[in-house]
Amino acid sequence: MSIDSKWEVRKGRITAWDRWCAELLVSLRKAAASPGLTLEELGLSIPQSACSFTFGSAKLALPVGAVFELWIKDPVANGVCPKCGGKVVATAFGGILNVGGYMGLCLKCATPMFRHIGGLGAVHQHITPFLEGTPWYLNGATYGGSFSSDGKALAKVLHLPDPPKATRSDKPEVTVGKHRLEVPDVEIVR
Ligand SMILES: [Zn+2]
Repeated sequence: MSIDSKWEVRKGRITAWDRWCAELLVSLRKAAASPGLTLEELGLSIPQSACSFTFGSAKLALPVGAVFELWIKDPVANGVCPKCGGKVVATAFGGILNVGGYMGLCLKCATPMFRHIGGLGAVHQHITPFLEGTPWYLNGATYGGSFSSDGKALAKVLHLPDPPKATRSDKPEVTVGKHRLEVPDVEIVR
């Protein structure tokens, strides 16, 4: 693994949306352990608004199945929160010309995080082998935008409340050196 970056705090202010996402991801990890999830449930999208890619033949917004593959196979998709020492997991990935990488969330303090990998091409190259041959292979990308989901269907399966309304400050915004990365939503066309 040639990536020597670390998880960095993406924004200091933690919103109701961030806390709800952290709660959902904790429940999701428990559900995955036992008794497991059906293939249909693995195809549900996780809540995020920063992933530049779509997945599988149905061109899904980042599905549970894909994040499970990454959490298990990619050491870079996990880490330790520099703020509280809690576990950080990747929740999206994408980029532009020379800025990009994983968005993540601390499961303990719900702080949004970022881990630099490289531009959109480097991110694509990094992720591809982990998802190749799975139902969640990379199948489509957008430059400078994101395919998002509010995670409502997944929350229902996990018996969690509906997502809180996201505010403007929930939008991913990343600064790496001189470069600023903002990712507006792109609608998924099926
Ligand atoms: Zn933390």
